[in-house]
Order: sequence, then structure tokens, then C-alpha cells
Amino acid sequence: MNLKFSNLFNNFFSKQKFFRKEIQFSEHNIEANYFHKNVLEIIKKLQNRNFDAYIVGGAIRDICFDLKPKDVDIVTNATPYEIKKIFRGSRIIGKRFKLVHIGYGRNIIEVSTFRKNAIMQNGFIKKDEKGKLLRDNLFGSEKDDIQRRDITINSLLYDPNKRIIIDYFDGFKDIKNKKIKVIGDPKKRFIEDPMRIIRIIRISSKLNLQIDEKLSRIMVTNIDLIRDIPSSRLFDEFCKMFTNGHATSCIVMLYNFNVLKILAPGLSDLMRNEKNLDKIRKLLKASDQRFEKKLTISISFVLSSLFWVLIKDEHKALLKKNKLSKIRSIFIVVDNFFSNFKQINIPKRIQYEMKTIWVNQIRLENTRGKKPIKLLNSDMFKISYDFFLLRNQINEINNDIFLWWSDLYKKKS
Ligand code: ATP
Ligand code: MG
Repeated sequence: MNLKFSNLFNNFFSKQKFFRKEIQFSEHNIEANYFHKNVLEIIKKLQNRNFDAYIVGGAIRDICFDLKPKDVDIVTNATPYEIKKIFRGSRIIGKRFKLVHIGYGRNIIEVSTFRKNAIMQNGFIKKDEKGKLLRDNLFGSEKDDIQRRDITINSLLYDPNKRIIIDYFDGFKDIKNKKIKVIGDPKKRFIEDPMRIIRIIRISSKLNLQIDEKLSRIMVTNIDLIRDIPSSRLFDEFCKMFTNGHATSCIVMLYNFNVLKILAPGLSDLMRNEKNLDKIRKLLKASDQRFEKKLTISISFVLSSLFWVLIKDEHKALLKKNKLSKIRSIFIVVDNFFSNFKQINIPKRIQYEMKTIWVNQIRLENTRGKKPIKLLNSDMFKISYDFFLLRNQINEINNDIFLWWSDLYKKKS
């Protein structure tokens, strides 16, 4: 290691302990058979060919918190080409960073090779003029891979055959103490990838973890960095945030950390009013409760709930300003909303569904003529009606109209 690089390395981790520690089964109690047999088989096959292979990241973290992990990530020191040779029917995917998808019937298990942050010849990580990572696609060692991860509780490796956890940054202790700690210098890590700020919010609201004052301050003072996150990446993160059963606490945290002020300033302004905040909370709570009951959550429904207060407010303002009909006005408001909302790239199909849910709220106000029957038989009726029911719970619906529709709906089903 040249001197320049070794200084950089020591500075980076100066306040953080970094050494390989093995945590035995007696301490963590994670049985190998907790994982799907296909995951165990992949790891065994790799290890039989003298490769290292582990389960890593969110899955181990969630199990330590007694939660069922959503997905399982496997890492190995085998390269994608070596992995592909071992598993028939596997596929190398990815342009910038290659991963392998191993198919078991309809299920696909993703295996990735240890990575490191790209380092240029002079010993510096390749970044743009602001310090954002430009490349994150070089194969590395186990150590490299752990160092590039975001927070200590996401950096545990689990070996199901030895039943040990490998822990470089005391992540296991942080799980026990319910602490969020960034790996390396938080400011530098946020500059490299500002999404880490939002991930910390998502993970701490999901696991009910406290973000200490010092880290909170660094997050808030660097919040402007999130403007640089590509809008499609933000949409993916939003999906995770609002369909993980903790949408309610997520939105409050996004507001408190001023993230919302950047991503959705109109909504953030409205949330200053306690009444609006309370409404948003109640609307999102319904999706969180569905998650608890293990029911599916539609992202269009959650996003319709999230932005409803804003749409309703703008609808009211527009009606006051001109003499257009309610239905005409809602179309204008909704189209306006989507054409101004560029920070998060909501796919066209989801936009269409959100628009229909919102416009149908106005259509549902009408109980005369043939239009209600037409609405009742339309594609998006059920989801729009569910949203209408939800609005009834927050006392937004006239009781007579509500009873009329619930009668009609009962007759239909
Ligand atoms: P979830 O339960 O939502 O899947 P997760 O932590 O597993 O949460 P993933 O997006 O699946 O999130 O990422 C898997 C792992 O990759 C993380 O646990 C973390 O170690 C690492 N990781 C993901 N995103 C980043 C990032 N932006 N910067 C550094 N490491 C990251
Ligand atoms: Mg994951």
C-alpha cells in the first residue's frame, strides 16, 4: 500500500474499529435452515469449489430483529463467469456491475461478487467534481465489499455452514443497541451517494431505530445532495418506503429531516398544518395495516393517499378561482401535478392509476343518472371505491352519498 493511500485509508476509518470478528451460533442463534434450501444449496456448491460465499446485508439484519427478510442477497469471491460455470441455467446480468441470476423454477436468486469502490491509480476513489461516486463496479475482496456498505447493521456476513456471522464494524452490537451508524465518515458517504440519507430514514423507521443527534445534524445539513439522485432511483426507493408497513413513520421522518421539502415542497408546506398531517397519517395507516395483515399493497393506492391532501387543496383553490366544473377542475389539477412533479419518476402506468383514483373521487360524489352505473362497471372502480371508503373514515364523505354507494356496491357483489 503506498503512503498516500494508507493515509487516506486510516483517515477514513480513524474513529471506527475495523477488524474481522466471528460471532458464534451461541450468541446469534440464527439456524441455517431459516433460509430457503436453494439459497443454502448455492452457498454449499460455491464453498465446495473453494469459494467463499455468504448471505449478506438486509436479510441478516432483519432476522436479528426477528423480522422475515424480503429478499436474500448472496455474496461470493467467485466472479460472475466462475459462478455461471457452476450453475446450469444461470444468467449474467447488469451492464455496469455484473451479477448472476440463478433460476429455480419461477424463483430467481441473485448472487454478486464482492465489490469495491473504484480506485484510480493515484489512490483516489473516482468521483465527480462534487465527490459523488462515478463508478462502483470493480470486483474486490471481502473487506472491500464490507467497507462500501452503508451502515454497520447492513454489513454482516452469515455463513450457514459454519453458522457464524462475520462482523467487521460491530454491526451485531449496534443491532442489539438499536443504533444506526454509518460506515466511514457520514458526510463523505452521503456525498458519494446521497440515497444513503433516505435509506437511513427508511431503515430506521422500519426497525424503530433512533438516529442520534450528531448523525441527524449531518443528514439535515447535507440534505440538498438528494437533488442529484436520479428520479427513477428515487421512485424505486419510494416504493420500498411506502410499501414496507411503515409508510406513516417514514413520511413523518421525511418531513422532519426536510427531505420532503426538496422532493415534494407543496406537500411539505401543507404538512406544517397539524390537521393535514393527521389526515395523511390516517390515510397511510390503512396501507400499513394491510401490510400487517399480509395483504398486497398497491403503490398507486399509497401514493394517491400520500398526495391526496395536496390534490384536494389545489382542487379547492382552483374551484374558487374559476367557474369550471368540479370534474373539469380535478383533471386540470391532476395533470398539473404530474407535469410539475419531476423529482420522482412515477411510471406512466402508475400515474394513470393515481389519476383515475383521484378523478373517480369526484365522480363518486354523483349519485344521479346513468354515470354511477358506468363508474361501477369501470376497471378502476374497486380501488377508487376503497379509497372512497378510506376517505369516509376521515369524515370527508357526506353520509347520504356514502350509504347510497355502499348499498349499490353490496347489490353488485
Ligand atoms: P431491504 O430490506 O429493503 O431489502 P436492504 O438493506 O437489504 O433493505 P437492499 O437495497 O436490498 O437494501 O441492499 C442490500 C445491501 O446492499 C444493504 O444491506 C447494504 O449492505 C448494501 N447497500 C444497498 N444500498 C446501498 C448504498 N446506497 N450504499 C451502500 N451500501 C448499500
Ligand atoms: Mg435487501
